[in-house]
Amino acid sequence: MSQTVILETPTVRTRRPATRVGKRYLIRTMGCQMNEHDSERVAGLFESDGMSKARGYEDADVVFVNTCTVRENADNRMYGNLGQLKAVKDVNPDLLLVVGGCAAQKDRDLVRRKAPWVDVVLGTHNLDRVLDLMDHAEDWGPITEVVDELQAMPSSLPSRREMPHSAWVTIQVGCNNTCTFCIVPAVRGVETSRRPGDILREVERLVDDGVVEITLLGQNVDTYGRDLAINGRRRPIFGDLLRMVGSVRGVRRVRFTSPHPNDFREDVARAMAETETVCEQLHFPLQSGSDRVLRDMHRGYTRSKYLERVAMARKLIPGLAVTTDIIVGFPGETEEDFEATMEVVETARFDQAFMFIFSPRPGTAAARMTDRFVPRHAIEERFSRLVSTQERISTEINRALVGSSVEVLSEGRSKRPGMATTRTRTGKVVHLPGEIPAGTELTTRIVSAAPHHLVGSPV
Ligand code: SF4
Repeated sequence: MSQTVILETPTVRTRRPATRVGKRYLIRTMGCQMNEHDSERVAGLFESDGMSKARGYEDADVVFVNTCTVRENADNRMYGNLGQLKAVKDVNPDLLLVVGGCAAQKDRDLVRRKAPWVDVVLGTHNLDRVLDLMDHAEDWGPITEVVDELQAMPSSLPSRREMPHSAWVTIQVGCNNTCTFCIVPAVRGVETSRRPGDILREVERLVDDGVVEITLLGQNVDTYGRDLAINGRRRPIFGDLLRMVGSVRGVRRVRFTSPHPNDFREDVARAMAETETVCEQLHFPLQSGSDRVLRDMHRGYTRSKYLERVAMARKLIPGLAVTTDIIVGFPGETEEDFEATMEVVETARFDQAFMFIFSPRPGTAAARMTDRFVPRHAIEERFSRLVSTQERISTEINRALVGSSVEVLSEGRSKRPGMATTRTRTGKVVHLPGEIPAGTELTTRIVSAAPHHLVGSPV
């Protein structure tokens, strides 16, 4: 049953025609790619309403803060940000302040209580209502609207992309797993897949708009389609979707995030290998290399199953780059458990790893395991050992590329003066001298390597 929570005032008016022509918006995004994608949708809605991007707080008429709850400091950062925004609103009382995203979904009342100067609080499931709610706040005062069920797939809303040649396409929202450290199932709801026809239509529209790189987005893409039954026919599965998206005329690169090691099967690896446009990149979250910790995390796989699946993917997909996520210091993690993680890191030889220190998220099962929390000094010592091991491995892998020629796609100007940032099919960043417009494909020779990037010279 969908539950709508509307505080302060009970009436929400129907949307009036474009009302904010000439006004400016600013979006601040915290957290993951799903949030970044949602923010692009919100930007698209704002622009469809006549607004354009502000340079900063000084010239903004609307500020949208897209919040995150996944890590503890994300919450702290959010309340810090909202505090700063109060000062901005004191100077400009007409500023409309909107808070969305996971923290708003989970802690709707807390956000309202801690930041009463916010005009609109809305959840992750009703982003499509943002303009109506802003109208409402302007006419009637502050409003909170959070619904527990999805109202519109984020990708069905208009979007303003940060990179003109590259777009995210949501294929699924929510998650049916119960990883004990994760708040996503509580804030994004049960897994809901988008129909393949809708996905393909969106991809075709994006290609018409100049997009050449598509990243399919879901919390657990390998279970895509399990909730869909189309005219009594076989349900679509993720491998089929990859082949379909990869065959859309004009698509040059397809990526996806994230698969789940428990659900990743050979059919997906084969679809990756057999679809030319699907990139040789697999983000495969390990979290821990200890079977005991994996069990406590409710991850559903063992270290040997994880390593078997990595080996299977590498065998089927030549040149595959594998990246991962690792949590250090999950409650109860012993030195022996941590050593098991280090062994997997040495065996799997990840191209990159996103490494995190465990932080208890209120509302998760792991946050209640207080009697098993690992002392901070032990976690930090393990973390630094892990980081230096992974940096060594990343450097070794990247150095092996020096002297080779690779195909890259430009993302435009780099933060380094006079350089452009490009990316290989395997997802590695390559800096190149000169101006290379975003979306340009070229071949480069790798001249030097660091753990997190490569430097090339055009061939
Ligand atoms: S698979 Fe686990 S970590 Fe990923 S979103 Fe679902 S519950 Fe969270």
